[in-house]
Amino acid sequence: MPNTPEQHAPKLWHFFSSLLGQGSKEILGQQERRDNVLTIAPIGFVVAILFALFNTLLAPYPLLGAIEAASAVLLLLPAIRLARRGQHLRWAENLLMLCGIVVFGALVVVGGVGGTGLFWAYSFPFMAFFIKGQRKGWLWSSLFLLEVGVLLLALRGTALAYPYDPVQIPHYLSSLLFVSVIAACFNLLRSRFQEKLHEGVLANTATAQHYLDQLQFLALHDPVTKLPNRTRILPVLQEEIGQAQARQGGLLVIAMRLSRLPEISNIIGNDATNELMQAISATLQQLLGEGGKLGRIAREEMLLVFPMRKPQFNLDNTTRMVGSYNLDFEIRGFPVHIDYTAGIATYPHHGSSAEVLLHKAEQSMLQALQHGVPATMYDASQDEAFVRYHYRFGRLRDAMAQNQLTQHFQPLINIRTGKLVAAEALARWFDPEEGFISPLEFIPIAESSGLIKPLTRWTIREALRQCALWQADFPGVAVSVNLSVRSLFDPELLPMLRQLLQETGINPALVRLEVTESLMLTAPEKGLAILRDIVALGIRLAIDDYGTGFSSLGYLKLLPVQELKIDQRFIRHLVEDRGDMAIVESTIDLAHHLGLSVVAEGIEDQETMQQLWLLGCDIGQGYYYSKPMPIDDYLSWCDHYQRRQAANPQLLDSEPDNTPLL
Ligand code: C2E
Ligand code: MG
Ligand code: MG
Repeated sequence: MPNTPEQHAPKLWHFFSSLLGQGSKEILGQQERRDNVLTIAPIGFVVAILFALFNTLLAPYPLLGAIEAASAVLLLLPAIRLARRGQHLRWAENLLMLCGIVVFGALVVVGGVGGTGLFWAYSFPFMAFFIKGQRKGWLWSSLFLLEVGVLLLALRGTALAYPYDPVQIPHYLSSLLFVSVIAACFNLLRSRFQEKLHEGVLANTATAQHYLDQLQFLALHDPVTKLPNRTRILPVLQEEIGQAQARQGGLLVIAMRLSRLPEISNIIGNDATNELMQAISATLQQLLGEGGKLGRIAREEMLLVFPMRKPQFNLDNTTRMVGSYNLDFEIRGFPVHIDYTAGIATYPHHGSSAEVLLHKAEQSMLQALQHGVPATMYDASQDEAFVRYHYRFGRLRDAMAQNQLTQHFQPLINIRTGKLVAAEALARWFDPEEGFISPLEFIPIAESSGLIKPLTRWTIREALRQCALWQADFPGVAVSVNLSVRSLFDPELLPMLRQLLQETGINPALVRLEVTESLMLTAPEKGLAILRDIVALGIRLAIDDYGTGFSSLGYLKLLPVQELKIDQRFIRHLVEDRGDMAIVESTIDLAHHLGLSVVAEGIEDQETMQQLWLLGCDIGQGYYYSKPMPIDDYLSWCDHYQRRQAANPQLLDSEPDNTPLL
C-alpha cells in the first residue's frame, strides 16, 4: 500500500533531522579517526605545497601561495604529528578543518587561477562531513559558507579580492550551500551503511562470543553434569588448599572411580546414563555439603574435596566412612546401585599442591582397586611398590608385544609306573634390564591389569602347538596349562580352545587346564558353567595349589575336575612333618574317593617321592624329576628319560626307583 501524506511526514522529518545529524552515532573508533587524519592531512600537505609553488612561481598569486604554504606548515604538520601520537585527535581534526577553511577560503576570495578556486572549494563540505561527522560537518560547512560570504562581501572592490561579477557571488554561495547538502546526504548514506555494517558485525560477534563462551565452558566442565573437569578442578583445589592454609584447617581429597558404568549404560541407554550421572553428582554434592567441591575428572571418575576444620584426621575412620557411601538410585524405573573405589589424600599430610594431592588420591584409588577394597588412604610406603608395579606392567606389556615371553616345560611322572604322563607349561620372562622375573611376580601384575587374557591365550596356543608336535616322539604325553580365573571368563577362551583342538588335531584328553580354588570365591555359578563347557570339549581339568585357599569339600564335589594338585607347601616337609603327612594322606584318600587322580607338586628328593608312593599318590612333579626347561631341553630330557625307563622295565608298577634320576 502506498504511503499516505501523514505517513510521509514523519519519514521526511526523520530524514531531515538525520541529515542535520540528529541521532547520529559515533561509530568511528579512535584508530579509524586517526587513520582518516593521517590519510587526508598528508595528501592535503602535498597538494597545498604544490599549489603554493604553482601560485608563487607560475601564476601571479604570491599571497595565495604564502597562505597555502603557511597553512600546510602551521596547521597540517601539527595535525599529522598529533594524529601520529594518537593524542588530542579532536584537535588534529580541527587543525585539518581549519586548514581547509583558510586555504579554500583564500582560494575563493583571492580568486586563484582566474576565479575558478570554487571548484576546489566544493570539496571542503565533503571533507568536513567525512572527518567531523553529520552534526559537526554542518557546523564546519556553515562556517566555511559564512567565511566565504563575509569575506567576499567585505573585501569586494579591494585589491585583495577577485573582481567577481556581483551576480556571481550569491550564485557561488548558493551552489556551495547546495554542495553542502549533497555532501550531508552522502555522508548520511555512508554512515547509515557503516552503522548497518557495524550492527551486523556486533550481531555476529555476539553469536561468536556465545559459541566461544560455550567452548570455554566445555573446555573446563563436563557437559553432562556441568561439573568442573580435570583441568578446571586443579585451580579450584589449589584455591581450597589456600583457604585451608589460611584457616589452619585440613582437606580431604577423594578420587572416586565409579564401577560398571559402561555395563549399566549398556542396559539403561545413553540418556538414562546421563540422568544417572546427574543424580550421582547431586548425591555427592549433597554429601559434600555447602563448602565441598566436586569435579568429574574422567568419564568414570569423580573428585571430592572436603574442607575439614582441623588438620588432624582419624585416618581409619575417614577411610571407613569414605568407603561406605550408599549410591543407590532409581533411573526411569530401574533400580541402579553404583559401586565405587576411592582413594584418599589429605592436606596438609600428603602435600600442599593441587597436582600432588590429586595424583596421590588417584594413586591410592588404584591401590584400592588392586586390593579390591572400597577405599584406601594414601600411604607413602606403598609409593615404591606402586611405581614398581606400574613400571613392571609397562615392561610386561612391551615384552608381550615383542614376544619376549617364553615357555618352560616341567614333566609330570606317574609315581606308580614311572611313566612320563605330561608336562606343565610355565611362562618365563627374561627382561633384558632386570633379568629373570618370576611368574609369581608378573602373573599377578597380568591378572590385575587385564594382560592375563592375551597372556593366557598365548600360553594355551603355544603349549598345544608344542604338545601336538611332541606326539610324534612321545605319544600320549599330555600338556598342562595354568588358567587364571580372569582368563576363564574370557569370552574368547572356549572358541579358541575349540579352534586349537581342531587345528592341531590333538586328542582333547591330552590337554589339561589347571584352575585354582579362588574361582569358587569369584563367581561359582558362572565359573562352573564354563568349566563344564571345557570338560564337554574333552579337556581335563585340575585343581592347582590345592590346600592353599578355599578348600571347600562341598565345592570339590561339584567341580567337574579330574585331577587334584596338592600344593607344594604340604609336600616340601612331608617326610618330617606329621601334620603335612596327615593332610596329604587324607587329601589323597578324599580325592580317590571322589574319583580324582592326585598330583603332588614340589617333590625335591627321592624320600618324598617314596613317601608319596606309599601314601598312594598318583603323579609327581618337582625338581627331583626335573626343573622346568626350555622346549629343546625338555624334549631331550624326555628322550633320555624314556630310554632309561625302557632299559629298566622291571621298575614299572613295582617299588619306586631308588636310583637318582638324571
Ligand atoms: P604352579 O602352577 O603351582 O607351578 C608350579 C610352580 O612350582 C612353578 O613355579 C615350578 O617351577 C615350581 N616348582 C616345580 N617343582 C618344584 C620343586 O620341586 N621345588 C620348588 N621349590 N618349586 C617347584 P613357577 O614356574 O615359578 O610358577 C609359579 C606360578 O606362576 C605357577 O604355580 C602358576 O601359578 C603361575 N604360572 C606360571 N606360568 C603361568 C602361566 O603361563 N599362566 C598362569 N596363569 N600362571 C602361570
Ligand atoms: Mg600349575
Ligand atoms: Mg601349583
